[in-house]
Amino acid sequence: MQYKRILLKLSGEALMGDRQYGIDPKRLAEYAKEIKEVVEKGIEVAIVIGGGNIFRGVAGASNGMDRVQGDHMGMLATVINGLALQSALEDEDVHTRLQTALEIKEVAEPYIKRKAIRHLEKGRVVIFGAGTGNPYFTTDTAAVLRAIEINADCILKGTRVDGVYDSDPEKNKDAIKFETITFKDVISKGLKVMDMTAFTLSQENELPIIIFDMNKEGNLVKLVSGEEIGTIINN
Ligand code: UDP
Repeated sequence: MQYKRILLKLSGEALMGDRQYGIDPKRLAEYAKEIKEVVEKGIEVAIVIGGGNIFRGVAGASNGMDRVQGDHMGMLATVINGLALQSALEDEDVHTRLQTALEIKEVAEPYIKRKAIRHLEKGRVVIFGAGTGNPYFTTDTAAVLRAIEINADCILKGTRVDGVYDSDPEKNKDAIKFETITFKDVISKGLKVMDMTAFTLSQENELPIIIFDMNKEGNLVKLVSGEEIGTIINN
């Protein structure tokens, strides 16, 4: 196996499937099945989940809401998604723990690094909810932060697009995909992979990021088995 411990970042929007809002149970079940296969290969899996399918602080602020208030709502949205994913994984008999950066102790464990690592070592999937616990950050930043803290080998960012392109492949059919690219080149070419806070944190800590299409069945399993899927961003 290429990796021993991975951090999978799933956006909230990914959970919507074909819907405009919320969670598509079918999509969730598909993800749970794929994650189970990875766990069965003996790979330790941590997951950071977004909340964009429910609420984003920026969207609230653009309608006049206080940004911090909105970000708290966004972080709670990630906890809702985390609970849904936990439930879907348990339906597949995968052992899980949800840890949150904001304490909601009746619902989930608080984030404690040592505990998270212990769970991973025991083969449990650990889902990190509530982002970093701070407003003005994103769940991409939370994903990089947690990945560094738990010493993950890499971040696998599952998206709708199958990698990093020199221009938007949804707008330009001649867009060229990179198999690998350096952090420096992503910045100098002005390519959008993650927000800058997340991206530079990853770069400074030499944590590789792999961007891949999570909606193509079997991709996650192929990726962890060493197939070259998506784009690897490295130093
Ligand atoms: N959020 C936050 N701090 C964090 C992570 C997330 O305040 O550390 C809030 C923020 O409002 C964000 C929302 O939670 O818009 C949902 O997260 P994100 O937009 O990253 O989700 P995704 O785009 O991955 O679905």
